[in-house]
Amino acid sequence: MTDSSGEAQGFLFSSEECGVAKEPVIISACLLGIPCRWHGRRASRRDALLERLKRRYVLVPLCPEQLGGMPTPRTSESLAQATGTDILDGKARLIAPETGQDVTEFHIVGARYTLELAQIIGAHKAYLKSGSPSCDRNGVTGETLRRAGIEVFAIG
Ligand code: SF4
Repeated sequence: MTDSSGEAQGFLFSSEECGVAKEPVIISACLLGIPCRWHGRRASRRDALLERLKRRYVLVPLCPEQLGGMPTPRTSESLAQATGTDILDGKARLIAPETGQDVTEFHIVGARYTLELAQIIGAHKAYLKSGSPSCDRNGVTGETLRRAGIEVFAIG
């Protein structure tokens, strides 16, 4: 609902102030310094890049592996074991090197939730951490998003 000036009523901030006028994009949570990586340590923040992205987009941080139900710290699967394409096409599995457990479903579920959330918020782009079995452009989540038409940018 708006008043005669066109301002939204019932909201504490205008859409410009709270940034909803900007395009929402998904970003790997660890790139914002959130300690969600498999070993529980923080990734080095890319402050200059983040500042540029924040000016243009609403950054929505997600960690697909946590969304898939994996704890932090957790096991250390690697992209060298299998690509997202292999996993999604049923040609390979991700096996935790520490335990021998098949953790493929955690990665697939995390990718699906990430895609669902991206679609709910209307994100058409994702900035994902490269080298991760989930977040890399060729990882399970990267590939899932790309198959759904979401543009994926790799951040090292
Ligand atoms: Fe970062 Fe993605 Fe790994 Fe989560 S799954 S820690 S967001 S690279």
